Amino acid sequence: MTTYDRLWSTLPYLRPMLTITQDTIQYGVDADGGRCHDLLGTRCDPYVTKLLSGQDVDFTCQSNLVRAVLPWGLTEFDVHDVLNVFQVTGLTKDTDRYFMKASPARQGDFFEVFAEIDVLCALSTCPGGDLSIPLWGPAARDPIEVCRPLGVEVYQPAPELLEGWQSPKPSDYRGLHGLAPAVGKDR
Ligand SMILES: [Zn+2]
Repeated sequence: MTTYDRLWSTLPYLRPMLTITQDTIQYGVDADGGRCHDLLGTRCDPYVTKLLSGQDVDFTCQSNLVRAVLPWGLTEFDVHDVLNVFQVTGLTKDTDRYFMKASPARQGDFFEVFAEIDVLCALSTCPGGDLSIPLWGPAARDPIEVCRPLGVEVYQPAPELLEGWQSPKPSDYRGLHGLAPAVGKDR
């Protein structure tokens, strides 16, 4: 994801929610096919961790997001697919295996979005850090030393910037998925 890409809501709404208006990384595609601001992968979570290690670990992005949405009356079932801002990932060219690389983001980098509708954005500073040290295997280290703080700022655009713009409406599909009753049809 990068500048001018849009995030759309799922069915049955299907409308733009956010448009990315600035991305200081501008990573492009690297020699390995890696890209930044990942939509390919998921978030770290306690379930895969349990599967792989047998351990109950509460400090994952999934758990951070669950705690973040609870005050709005939402639950874990409302935690959907994520956008991994500042994370570089791809699929290896030979075996199509998912890979992650150390984040290229440095202090001052930012990822700016224009909210086309009212949105609730939940953020997690990944307890896995910036992926610059091994998280698994014999060389694994506690990533706390490479966890970076995130800042969030919310602005109201100047009115002249919004001239001619309208908040997108949900899809106006009015069919009934083929379930319409056979009123007035031949019997
Ligand atoms: Zn994470």
